[in-house]
Amino acid sequence: MNLTNEIMRETTRNFEVYYNPKLNGEIRLDTNTNVLGSNPAAEKYLAENRWDLNGYPNTYSNGLREALGELYGLDKDNFIAGNGSDEMLDVTFKTFTNWGDNSVVPVPSYTLYDYFVEMNGGKAHEVDLTEDFQLDVDEIVKQDAKVAIMPSPNNPTGNCFRQKDIEEILSRFNGIVVVDEAYAEYADDAMIRRVDEFDNLVVLRTFSKAYAMAALRVGYAAANRKLADMMMRVKIPYSLNMVSEGAAIAAVKDQDFIRRSVEMVREQRPKLDAGLRKLGFETFPSDSNFILARAPIDHKELVQGLKERGVLIRDFGAKRRTENCVRTTVGTAELNAILLEKAEEVISGCR
Ligand SMILES: *Cc1c(COP(=O)(O)O)cnc(C)c1O
Repeated sequence: MNLTNEIMRETTRNFEVYYNPKLNGEIRLDTNTNVLGSNPAAEKYLAENRWDLNGYPNTYSNGLREALGELYGLDKDNFIAGNGSDEMLDVTFKTFTNWGDNSVVPVPSYTLYDYFVEMNGGKAHEVDLTEDFQLDVDEIVKQDAKVAIMPSPNNPTGNCFRQKDIEEILSRFNGIVVVDEAYAEYADDAMIRRVDEFDNLVVLRTFSKAYAMAALRVGYAAANRKLADMMMRVKIPYSLNMVSEGAAIAAVKDQDFIRRSVEMVREQRPKLDAGLRKLGFETFPSDSNFILARAPIDHKELVQGLKERGVLIRDFGAKRRTENCVRTTVGTAELNAILLEKAEEVISGCR
């Protein structure tokens, strides 16, 4: 057999493997996880429990969905839970798009959206954000597309989109509107409690960021019951394993950790922002636990220089609209001090 990419499905032939850096004990400010470390309630749950590994988990994670219903004042039937919000992205496009359908994806935003759209046979129709990284409402609503997706706060720019723009898209766009709230714990605005107000809103959330449980891969979607039921029927049964589900339920019940994490970010973010500006970076306003910044030297040299000094940040410098930009997670005071010190070294070495 002639093993070229031709053997693959047409729509996935050109896919490349995802970000997978070789690690050497670096400080990780490249993934926007919680710098306070592993979720304590989830760790306690794991330390204190044993599981019957021979039994299947609950088919649709009813325990977690009930806990989420309580947290947000919604019903368990408003939720679908699964293996990371990445699975929820996959389920969304599987549920709502036909082969060849367009989905609207803003630029710049989360790089995995195109991947999930195309994996499901759709076409990603990119619409640029405005100059100040807000939604171009008129351009989005006029697209002939089945789904419009947007992260708010946006990754990698860090800002929230205006609520009134999201509401306007919800009323004018003739399709499903997905608001990915992966970082919403850090922001003032969120749509998740309002899913019953709209017939076309799907909100995505994750335990990977503020909840500090990326290793366990838990994410969920919220929508009105009709949409949630459609997605539930498409989702792979049992995709959320029993151990992760139990840990997520424990984490939902410990909101104190989330509050502490958010407070830390709100305290450190302006300080890190000021520190970066002092080094010559142009920073962009953030409502999340990371900052996008335009580097004062070549982005590749900066990211490589930091890596050699034991600090990983994420490079967006080769992409349109974020030319020469990097994205760094907001660290603790100690981590930010290290980042700024190493960045200064790299920058002064380049001049
Ligand atoms: C990190 C991130 C996710 C998280 O996905 P998981 O699969 O839940 O880990 C989703 N959306 C955005 C925009 C993110 O930055």
